[in-house]
Formats: sequence, C-alpha cells, structure tokens
Amino acid sequence: MTNDVWGRVLDALRGALGAHNFSNWIEPLEFSQLTGGVATFHVPTNFIGNYVSQNFGDQIIYHLNKHGQDVDRLKFMVHTAARQVPQPTLRPAAKTTQADDVAGAPLDARFTFDTFVVGKPNELAHAAARRVAEGGPVTFNPLFLYGGVGLGKTHLMHAIAHELKQRSPELNVLYLSAEQFMYRFITALRERKMMDFKQLFRSVDVLMVDDVQFISGKDSTQEEFFHTFNALVDGQKQIIISADRAPGEIKDLEERIKSRLQCGLVVDLHPTDYELRLGILQSKVDFYASQYPDVQIANGVLEFLAHRISTNVRVLEGALTRLFAFASLVGREISLELTQDCLSDVLKASDRKVTVEEIQRKVSEHYNIRLSDMIGPKRVRNYARPRQVAMYLAKQMTKRSLPEIGRRFGGRDHTTVMHGVRRIEELRTLDSQIADDLELLRRALEE
Ligand code: ADP
Ligand code: MG
Repeated sequence: MTNDVWGRVLDALRGALGAHNFSNWIEPLEFSQLTGGVATFHVPTNFIGNYVSQNFGDQIIYHLNKHGQDVDRLKFMVHTAARQVPQPTLRPAAKTTQADDVAGAPLDARFTFDTFVVGKPNELAHAAARRVAEGGPVTFNPLFLYGGVGLGKTHLMHAIAHELKQRSPELNVLYLSAEQFMYRFITALRERKMMDFKQLFRSVDVLMVDDVQFISGKDSTQEEFFHTFNALVDGQKQIIISADRAPGEIKDLEERIKSRLQCGLVVDLHPTDYELRLGILQSKVDFYASQYPDVQIANGVLEFLAHRISTNVRVLEGALTRLFAFASLVGREISLELTQDCLSDVLKASDRKVTVEEIQRKVSEHYNIRLSDMIGPKRVRNYARPRQVAMYLAKQMTKRSLPEIGRRFGGRDHTTVMHGVRRIEELRTLDSQIADDLELLRRALEE
C-alpha cells in the first residue's frame, strides 16, 4: 500500500470517527507494511494498539478494503522510535503545561459539608469524610466511598477538597474523575510526557479520583494508577476514591488493585430513606424560595415528594427545580395537585413495580446460572442458594404472597418459600457476601 492510499484511508477515518477520536487514536498509528492480508502498524504503546484494535479495528479494515486493499487482519507493534522524540531544548514548554495540570477538575462551590444533609444512610461516609478533611495524620488510606448514582459521593469529595484547601491552603489537593486520569495518562503517553505525568501525580498531597469503576478493563491505565497509588501511600499522602460499587465488585479490575483499595477504610453510602430525603428537600427549599420569592409551597408537598421519589438525590433536586419554575410561570401555589401534574413522569418512574420474573432474571444473571435451573427442580446448592435469594427478594420487593411466589418458582409449596426466605434472613447477618449480593441486586432492581 502506498502512503498515498493510506493518506486517503486516513481522510475517510477522520470523517467516520470524528476529529477527537482521530487525533487521539488514529494519528499515533504509523503504517508499516501489508503482507498476506495483514496490515501492520507501529504504535507508541501496547495500550493504544489494544484500544484501537478493539474499538476501531473493524472500521480501519473496512476503509482499507474500500480503498482496494486486501486486508483482513491488523497487527500493532510497539515501536517507540517510530515518531520523532522532541529534542531536549523543547522542554521548558512542559513546565507551563505542568502548572496548568495541577488545577485538576473544577470543584462545585455548592458541594460543601454545610450543604450536605446527614442521615442514617450516609452518616458513616460523612463522618469518614469529615475526619479526612481535618487533615490530621493519615489514619486510613485510601478512603473508599461507594454507593449508587446520585447518593452524594461527588458532593462529599468536593466537600473534603474545599475544607482542606481552606484549612491548609499550602496543600496540593488534586481532584479528578477516573476518566480524566485516564485521559491525561493517554495524552502523556502520546506526547511523550510520562515523566511529567508521574511527577505531577506523585507531587500531590491529597489525591481524589472519582468514579474509579471507569478504569476497569483499561490495563495500562490501571497499571499506572496502581503505581501512582502505591507511591502516594508510601509517602503518607491521603487518597480518596469513589466508585459505584465495592472494590471487590468492580469487574475487570486487577486483584492486586482490589486488595490495595480495600486496605484503607471502605464506606458505603446507602440508598436514601424517607427521613433523609425529607431533610434534603427541606434544606433545599429555602434556596428555591429565595430564587422564586413569588412562589408559595403548600404543606405536605415535601412529604409527598420524599415518599414518592426513590433514592437518587439528583432526581429529587430536579423535581424541586421543575416545580418552582413551573409554579412561578403559571403564577400558582405549589399544591399537591400541581405537583402531580408537573411531575407525572418522574412519579411514574419511581412508581415502577418490580416483578418476580425480573427478580428471577437478575438473580440468575448475577449468579451466572440459567433461569430454567433457578425455577426447575434441582436441589444442588449452586441453584438452591440463588433460588432462595430470589425468593427472599420477591418477598421483600413485591406484594406477592408466599403461595403466589411458590407458583412462580416451578409450583413450589409456600412452606418451601418461607423456609428459603428465613434462610436468607439468617445468612444475611452471618455471611457478608450474601449481604453484599442482596444489596447489589436490590439496587439493580430498583433502577
Ligand atoms: P454521586 O456522585 O454519588 O452520583 P452527587 O454527589 O453528584 O452523587 O449528588 C447528586 C446531587 O445530590 C448533588 O447535587 C448533591 O449536592 C445532592 N446530594 C446528594 N446527597 C446529598 C445530601 N446528603 N445532602 C444534600 N445534597 C445531596
Ligand atoms: Mg459522582
């Protein structure tokens, strides 16, 4: 293949993948040769090669074929000398980049401890965050916060950052999402600034990485994360991590990283309960009242919302915003009736009923067994335990009676169901794995 043809394929790929993907992933490729249907490219790192192969491989082959090239496979070879390495004299520029980099992701000024409402479901996480924010000697490292969407993980992390910056302005506090960490890592690789990258991350006093579940499966980013992590822990620097699930539950995360993440303090933000939701609504309503001084809100509306909108606080806030904007627009009081009209979609979504069938499906997926084996007659423990978990969840999450549940489990007797439910109730307090499974499944079913 001539460079000319490859140039035209590149143009086509730019159009197909967009400028952003193109400059991140395709530009670093250097075409080497084409023999026996295999097109070989030089890449700066294995990571880029793997990523391109997984995400853009088909498209590259497609466009090569379209331009008359007989290619059915791509091969990527790491070849560091493939591109011009910048001369040392160009180095000073790196300094300014590095200074910019330290800024991290912007912090939301509203996410402080003052605006965080504490209730039973989040009191442990809050207490741990407070402790870390005091900036004393590092007692638990890392602090690992986990919980479902919209339960306040990011809010708590920002609150820690605000507090630390206020108490000790000299501390270098870096907050960023796992995706940003990944992006910087890849950019550093591409621009050959790995030394700067390493230095930057190893020079922080407090590192916060939000939503680390997103680095699962990204091998070389994980590797770098692990090294950064160890270097900081060894240097007695505080690390705070968040994820949507417990370290052990993050798929495609290396075992050594999992165990590293577990060796500090792992705290769970539980789904909100009625009291917490009401507390949050009450604390926010003053703010909205000041934004919309003309709007009145009737008694009972906040209680109604706290009952009817499920766990996600972001949805709860969105509901308030909409109510105030709408009431102000139509010049009416926020009554129960107006609330029902204005939020019918949100209320319906939260009203969703979970069925026994959905529970069976989710549970069998979770334990990796066939649905037919869960419902069928086999009594081996591999099937019996998941079956009991599903029975327990069906009893908890639906309004079905024990005989009704029994019927849906292959016509089992209601005493069998009752036995299963009791067994899981027992195990739940004895076996933390079962407790975690139940929590995870319940969350997944409530979504
Ligand atoms: P997560 O990162 O867990 O998905 P966020 O921290 O982004 O959730 O929270 C979602 C929204 O809900 C934010 O606006 C946040 O301020 C608010 N929020 C969550 N929990 C609380 C709480 N306990 N008190 C006050 N606001 C909260
Ligand atoms: Mg978040």
